Amino acid sequence: MAETAVLFIDMDYFFAACEELRRPELKGRPFVVGTHPEKDRFRGVVQTCNYEARKFGVRSAMSVTKAFELCKDLIYVPDDWRYYEEMSAKVMQLIRSYSFPVEQDSVDEAAVDLGKTGYDEAKRIGEELKGKVNAEIGLPCTIGISYGKYLAKMVCDASKPNGFGIVTEKETERFLKDKAVGKLPGVGEKTEAKLKSMGITTIGELARVNPVTLIDKFGSAGVDMQQLAKGVDDSKVVSTEETLSIGRQSTLYQNTDDIVVVGKKLRELSDEVAREAERKGFRFKNVGVMVRYEDFTQITRSANLRHYSSSGDDIYAAAMALAKGLVSERKVRKVGVRVASLLETKGQKALF
Ligand SMILES: [Mg+2]
Repeated sequence: MAETAVLFIDMDYFFAACEELRRPELKGRPFVVGTHPEKDRFRGVVQTCNYEARKFGVRSAMSVTKAFELCKDLIYVPDDWRYYEEMSAKVMQLIRSYSFPVEQDSVDEAAVDLGKTGYDEAKRIGEELKGKVNAEIGLPCTIGISYGKYLAKMVCDASKPNGFGIVTEKETERFLKDKAVGKLPGVGEKTEAKLKSMGITTIGELARVNPVTLIDKFGSAGVDMQQLAKGVDDSKVVSTEETLSIGRQSTLYQNTDDIVVVGKKLRELSDEVAREAERKGFRFKNVGVMVRYEDFTQITRSANLRHYSSSGDDIYAAAMALAKGLVSERKVRKVGVRVASLLETKGQKALF
């Protein structure tokens, strides 16, 4: 029987690539996509940057001030979430056109369960998809293929940018052994530091260590982590719904520029949305807010949580963080909260 294959696709420098697509004059010149409007860009941080900016040492999450210190010819582009979400929807639609189960993991990443297609067919599909994303949407991406979701993601990460990689069962050990443990999906900085304090820095070392010491430190998560380090990856692609999102909007009693008042409304809406998500059996990873001003212009922003969640508190915290930047000068008349990147609660698998 043919092997099971999972394909993982990740867009390369997604926001920067989207900007280059509509502003080709940016190509070949160092630029960053920042979190603040042009007029107060120096208060912002770098969301992403292109390769030319990277050559100067500019990185994501760096302050814009620091980025300009490193590269004085840097071009600043304020982020435009509505546009990126539109482009993301196009990419996801193309991926879904193959009719395999798709798990969208973020605005620009997805895992696709190709079933028992075998690696030859998986390679054909992957190359075709990569070509289509390039030709039909105009954006670069990287694809990784393996027999489990986590491994496929790692293959994808290792093949970036504009790459294509396949790692089969036979090749897994060699692929994994010298990589840093932090490269394992689900192993965050804290876990990595803890492992390091135990003298474990590579995946190969993690695979060989006595499991008892791992259980001691990490409980059963230690066993799962070691299994993955050994190349045992039974992670499932869990289909996320295509356009499904759950949201609520509400007009304020009075137009206001007071974040406390807006916050109270966001709190109510967050709890309502959480209850509805629970009733419908979904967890969510993406939280969005909509702010409509008294002149009826509106802005939407969204952000991903670190994990799938079902909590109204998580929605509220994310919504408030997003809303803070939107409520200051102009008065607000209506706000909305929504969650997306939904995951059905059955069949959930916990990470370490
Ligand atoms: Mg990406």
